[in-house]
Parts: sequence; C-alpha cells; structure tokens
Amino acid sequence: MPRGRASRARYEHRRRAALGRVGNWAWSRARPAALARDGWRCRVAEVAAGTYRPELGPWAGTLVVSPECSGGDRALLQVHHVRGTEVGDDPRWLLAACRACNLATGDPRARDARPDVVTRW
Ligand SMILES: [Zn+2]
Repeated sequence: MPRGRASRARYEHRRRAALGRVGNWAWSRARPAALARDGWRCRVAEVAAGTYRPELGPWAGTLVVSPECSGGDRALLQVHHVRGTEVGDDPRWLLAACRACNLATGDPRARDARPDVVTRW
C-alpha cells in the first residue's frame, strides 16, 4: 500500500471502485446500517469469542483479532464481509470491524484456500 494520507485515500478510492463500491447505492446504505447495528465499535473479538452475534459462529474461526484493535474509534471503523465479498452486501454477513482487525483477518476465502496448498507437500 502506498504511504501518505493522500495516496492512501487514492488507493482506497481505487480499491472501492474496483469492488464496485464507489457510487454503489446499496453499499452506501448497507455500510452505515451494519455499523449502527453493531453499535459503532469493532466486534471482531466478541464474535471470535462467541459472545456476540452467535449466528456468525461458523465463521468465528476466520476472524483474527489484531493486537492493535482500535475498538470504538469511528474514524478507523470498517465493515468486514464475514463470508467474503462473494455473497454480496447482505447485512447478515456484515460485521463492524476496526481497520486493524479487518486487515489482520483479510479475505476469509483466501484463508480457506491455504490448506489446499499445504496438502500438496
Ligand atoms: Zn478490532
């Protein structure tokens, strides 16, 4: 990722554009709705521990709690796609996550792919 605030903003804009997020009306509604439902704080640790939104349990193991979790800092809040972006922006599979936890967790589908590589050894 490029360094610096301006280039990071451009990078984020391009990344969101690639994901179809820029000018995406549904996402512009789904994102704040998901954050409001989750109380505007990072819920990764609670879901991973099974103490919040137990319906996400099957995917709790894909979550990684960052040691730099910023909790309820709204400026650093993002929305994690618990089942990956493949299933779309269904609010049931969206989770308020701080930037650090979202980055540490990454794409759950990428994580699923890893054991396939290991079995080839
Ligand atoms: Zn966090």
